[in-house]
Amino acid sequence: MGLAVYIHIPFCVRKCNYCDFPSYPVAGMDVDGYLAALAREMSWYKVETAGMEVSTLYVGGGTPSILSARQLELLFKAVRDNFTLGADAEISLEANPGTVDFSKLTLLRRLGVNRLSLGVQGLDPGLLKRLGRIHTPQQAVEACELARRAGFKNINLDLMHGLPGMTETGWHQTLEQAVELAPEHLSVYGLIIEEETPFGRDYLEGHLEMPEEEARARMFSRSKEFLTQSGYYHYEISNYALPDRECRHNQVYWHNEEYLGFGAGAASYRHKARSTNYRQVEQYRTAIDQGRLPLEEKEEPTPDQEMSESMFLGLRLMAGVQRSRFAQRFGVELDQVYGDRIAALVNKGLLLDDGDGVRLSSTGTLLANEVFCEFLP
Ligand code: SF4
Repeated sequence: MGLAVYIHIPFCVRKCNYCDFPSYPVAGMDVDGYLAALAREMSWYKVETAGMEVSTLYVGGGTPSILSARQLELLFKAVRDNFTLGADAEISLEANPGTVDFSKLTLLRRLGVNRLSLGVQGLDPGLLKRLGRIHTPQQAVEACELARRAGFKNINLDLMHGLPGMTETGWHQTLEQAVELAPEHLSVYGLIIEEETPFGRDYLEGHLEMPEEEARARMFSRSKEFLTQSGYYHYEISNYALPDRECRHNQVYWHNEEYLGFGAGAASYRHKARSTNYRQVEQYRTAIDQGRLPLEEKEEPTPDQEMSESMFLGLRLMAGVQRSRFAQRFGVELDQVYGDRIAALVNKGLLLDDGDGVRLSSTGTLLANEVFCEFLP
């Protein structure tokens, strides 16, 4: 199996009102210095990964498309200096529609990016403004069209439902407009209110007019109904794809396989250890400058934890967890470890068991967190 590599670009034009990702407004940031640190961090893995091919590379953020043409060239040079990209590697890059034009998109194609993930989030001007996004619906549509002209044949659109002030009709219109753009893939997430954000503070003060719980559940169900009718395959709780267009990189996470992450806040799972880099850019850069790994946390999951993680990550996939795969990985039968819990969840109508494996039922998809909790060690 090839390597899965993640690179984090933690800069954005400005912070969105709901965002608690490791990302910072770019003004005044030393982006070149950060890219040099990234290159150095990658170089420390060159020997260890020699002879291996990268099968998936995901450049996420933040807003990777905020980088200038020169900086993008530098980033991809660093990748190619330190890793061998497989001939059919999936190379994804996240782009904010307010930060791309035709020449940047053409450059990305030339650099080898073959999957563009556009952070559209919504197609209603009022809602985009409320979210604090820097782009308009028109810019999102144009970015998609420009990406096609630049040669992208694999485009993902990120969308969000359950937004303050969003109606079910409004959500349906957004889905219709998104499908008209004919993306190969759609990631559809419900908004989660995070405490340390402007939305979190508004929520606590009672100023956030969130749709009712039932309305949010119906928006989730509406997405599934509409997108599957439109030819998209629902392959993960929040992800839909045309045939053979599932995101290969994210499947590495859901299959609980290993990956290497670089940059501030990036996570890795390698040699059975999970680690996370410093979220703060300064701390990250200081560690790299001092020649030490920029690790904020590192732990080696116990076999029980690994099995548990494989269950709640694997159950995110609509195909679920296969008995043969579990037994092969852990040397023990799935039912020996989780037989009672699986039976109880099947009885409650939350899991389906077809003998080969177990997967979420339709009700289980809506109550996924309740199901996952049952597999905690
Ligand atoms: S563009 Fe994305 S990463 Fe940046 S602040 Fe907005 S949600 Fe967060």
